[in-house]
Amino acid sequence: MAKKSRQKKTSSASAAAPAAAPLSSLLRLPRGPVSMASLDASATPGYPGVGKADAGDQTAALAPELSELQERLYAHGRTNPDTARSVLVVLQGMDTSGKGGVIRHAIGLVDPQGVELTSFKAPTQEERSHHYLWRIRRALPSGGMVGIFDRSHYEDVLVVRVESLVPESEWSKRYDELNEFEAEVAARGTTIVKCMLNVSFEEQLARLSARLEDPTKHWKYNPGDLDARAKWPAYMEAYQAALELCNTELAPWHVIPADRKWYRNWAVAELLRETLAGLDVDWPVADFDVAAEKRRLAAASG
Ligand code: AMP
Ligand code: MG
Repeated sequence: MAKKSRQKKTSSASAAAPAAAPLSSLLRLPRGPVSMASLDASATPGYPGVGKADAGDQTAALAPELSELQERLYAHGRTNPDTARSVLVVLQGMDTSGKGGVIRHAIGLVDPQGVELTSFKAPTQEERSHHYLWRIRRALPSGGMVGIFDRSHYEDVLVVRVESLVPESEWSKRYDELNEFEAEVAARGTTIVKCMLNVSFEEQLARLSARLEDPTKHWKYNPGDLDARAKWPAYMEAYQAALELCNTELAPWHVIPADRKWYRNWAVAELLRETLAGLDVDWPVADFDVAAEKRRLAAASG
């Protein structure tokens, strides 16, 4: 009995050992002050395997369960529109942090018919003529769906703050507004999973050079990325504020170490699996007489 309370070193855990704690509890940012410098971008908390070598298999192994859970969510939404649930995964991170990679490798494990993906770019003229949450509300997942935000309403306190696109008197009010907005979304049956993909300054350099070196990656490179990189400390300050001020019970932040792509992809897939499993949505019960339908089918085919 006494032995049980002893802390196990994660590095000594064997591949077969069950995870000690849900990944969401390991990656969830604790409430309170945040220090960006203390968040280790190359850590691999909760990873059950050996490392890069088996990460593809570990991630692929999540697919069957992810797939079934997502289908149950969808089926429940279709048959019980009044109590339909949905999930919203918010992906935020600096350029090269891997939002696209996560969408391809982790979200790609579920049926695309059940996924609603929205990538938020600089607002269009029409979007700018509305409140900044207008385009966000329109993109919220419908009942039974998994919504993915590639960038999000957080840009309105990140790039907007760093680039002074609106005055401080305006952006400073947005943190409370975002908390209220997310509480409202959660109250309508959407489970919000916010993921900050934490890439280090050094790793971003390596990824940007790789993009420049490889002609097949030039399309991903945007000269503007270097301007944002030059403002790294200001971005970190803005991230710190967003993580600290918008880390609520209803919409908590998870910080995903993103320097190792293989860990990042596995981690988001596992977080999504845990989230869907936590909804505890069962297959809907038929609203017709199954036995009678079987008899009718037999009669019709005889
Ligand atoms: P990417 O995700 O690399 O395609 O880049 C999208 C760009 O859109 C980034 O430079 C973002 O900073 C920018 N962006 C997204 N949302 C906003 C916003 N609300 N205001 C200004 N720029 C934004
Ligand atoms: Mg980009």
